Amino acid sequence: MPFIKMSNVTKLYKSEDGVENYALNHVCLSFPDHGLIAVIGKSGSGKSTIINLLALLDKPTSGHVYINNNNVSTWKKKKIEKYHNQEMGIVFQHYHLLENHTVLYNIMLPSLIKGDKEKESKKKAIKLLESISFPKELYEHKCKDLSGGEKERVAVLRAVINEPKIIFCDEPTGALDKNNSIAVMEILKNISRDKLIILVSHDISLTKKYADRLIYIKDGKVEKDEIINELDNKQNKSQNKDVKHHNQWKNKISLSNFKRRFTRNLISIITLSVGLVASLLIVGFANGSTPSIKENSYKQLDYGVLTFSKQKSQSIAGSKISLVQQTRPTYEEISSFSEIIDNYVIENNFSALLSYFPNIKLGEEKLTDFSFRPIYSFASNYIDHSLLIDGYIPPFDNLDEVLINKKGYEYLIKKGIKNPLDISLDISIDKEFHYYTGDDLNPVINDVFSYQKIVHIVGVVDEMDFLSTPKLFYSYSSFTNYLFDYPLINLSSYYERDFSWYERVATANNNDEISSYSFYLFKKDINDIPSIANHIANIEKPYVLESTPQTLSDTLLNLVNAASMGMEIFLFISIIGTALILGIVSFSSYSEDKKMIAILSCLGANRNDVDDIYVLENLFVAIIALIISFILSPLLSLLINFIMNKWLGFSHMIKIPFLSLWGIPFLLVVGLIIITIFIAIISTMLPILLSSKISLKKELADE
Ligand code: ADP
Ligand code: MG
Repeated sequence: MPFIKMSNVTKLYKSEDGVENYALNHVCLSFPDHGLIAVIGKSGSGKSTIINLLALLDKPTSGHVYINNNNVSTWKKKKIEKYHNQEMGIVFQHYHLLENHTVLYNIMLPSLIKGDKEKESKKKAIKLLESISFPKELYEHKCKDLSGGEKERVAVLRAVINEPKIIFCDEPTGALDKNNSIAVMEILKNISRDKLIILVSHDISLTKKYADRLIYIKDGKVEKDEIINELDNKQNKSQNKDVKHHNQWKNKISLSNFKRRFTRNLISIITLSVGLVASLLIVGFANGSTPSIKENSYKQLDYGVLTFSKQKSQSIAGSKISLVQQTRPTYEEISSFSEIIDNYVIENNFSALLSYFPNIKLGEEKLTDFSFRPIYSFASNYIDHSLLIDGYIPPFDNLDEVLINKKGYEYLIKKGIKNPLDISLDISIDKEFHYYTGDDLNPVINDVFSYQKIVHIVGVVDEMDFLSTPKLFYSYSSFTNYLFDYPLINLSSYYERDFSWYERVATANNNDEISSYSFYLFKKDINDIPSIANHIANIEKPYVLESTPQTLSDTLLNLVNAASMGMEIFLFISIIGTALILGIVSFSSYSEDKKMIAILSCLGANRNDVDDIYVLENLFVAIIALIISFILSPLLSLLINFIMNKWLGFSHMIKIPFLSLWGIPFLLVVGLIIITIFIAIISTMLPILLSSKISLKKELADE
């Protein structure tokens, strides 16, 4: 019974202009299970086509191939893969070795793909190499360094390592000199004692000496079939058990691919690392910026100073603009807020008399950049004494001593003042106010509020740098006391009693400019700052509680949140971009490796093995990028934090939550690893899945 049979097989090629060419024309051939059978013919006669069809690298146009009496057209992919790996071996004219791998590895490969352990495969390969006295020193040489004869021998040994039943050899001696040709034929002859070798050649004289049978092919037809040696009935003994699979062989190929494409992979690693580092920094920014700003915004000496007012808004018909009318609430109205009464000192707002911007003079020079800000008292419960960086905080409240903030200090230093703590400033203001008596004789009484003071700067306080301007802080309680004792000259004489500026403001109409349309509130316990935000939030319309430092802090937080949002969008885009780049890179790697993939397939590797090789290559990239980014991002965050601290005064803006995110330990690290590996796998698999199927025949065609 024939072992392999071609039954009425035709292979037809149609050229682009429609011309039909029969590579094989109704060929019928049977092959036994052992012996060296040569197919002889001129170039273009159809020899390689026979091999391609029998090796199941191609399909006939019509007719059938039978192996062991099975029609191969019914075979599934898995069965074909097993046939390639274990039942046949093939030696190509151009060897098709993995040139970047060693002699040993090339010979071992089919055995490794079959699932043998590395040790076992190595033993088999060495035994084969020894059987043909292959020079030992070449075992670990890369195939690209071998001579043609050596390559041919390696290719033959690779074809026989899995002890297949059939070995196809397409012009095995085509590129060899005489001595090498004879050596290879000897090896093949030896093997053919219990295996079937189908050998294609155009060298009749050499082939005739070794072949058991000669099949002459001409123009795709069998011309002559000549038996030279009658073959006995010896049975092809090789038997293949199913073995447990070992997969390390793929690692070796992946690693070698990785090294071969080092520059390209380096670019992938850099791209991925940049994306990962950016992700970590953005997460760190989202995590660290809010607490950092909150903590920093408390660094304002007047954090406990608020205003309380009543605001009624009136919309204007036909316009989007509405008018806000602000008035000072009555004292009774404030009293209804127990939280306010308990937590704050309530005082009249004397800003109409002494605004933030009086005349501030250093000698003859006006310091218009400076503002003059109230704090209630220098006592430690009203201001944070830990903010002091130089000088001292006055031990008791007075109007002669003021504190300066860092910006103001730096401003004076820039002006050439060696020690700002040594200087005095002139504060002055003159402002006329009208009092309407309702008296026809004296309807209006005019008085001038005149304030002149030489103040000494005694201490410098630290302050949130962001948007900070030069400031002087004075004691408001001292100023209040001062106003108690400072009478209005004309109004006092009109009423014929002392009428102080304090009384003038306190008794003014709530919608009079002199009332400043609000009360000042001073937090009694500065150690309880966070409650201020709650108090502000709890006040309901039409009452409004405002704190300039709190507003600044809120604005900053909004800004930072908006920035975080923007960065998160960038992050999303960068992840997609990175995946695309990785995808393109692995697609081009896959495309340029088509020949290698075809060789592996021909040796029996299946689609999954090939996928694994490319996924593994990208996994190397992913793992290296992960390691780089886990090392680089903390260092970068240190640097960025240092710069932000220097420029904006915020420390720890970036705090990468490596240890715990949303209360889950190591969520960020584990999550990032999973996402990255996912991206690596998807960006490898998708392009491979989408790329066209590799044609083994085309890739392995002897050029
Ligand atoms: P041999 O191996 O004997 O030199 P082949 O089997 O390779 O010949 O080719 C047989 C014939 O089929 C030749 O005429 C060749 O040009 C043609 N042929 C082989 N492969 C293709 C192909 N992919 N497309 C078109 N014609 C082909
Ligand atoms: Mg050929």
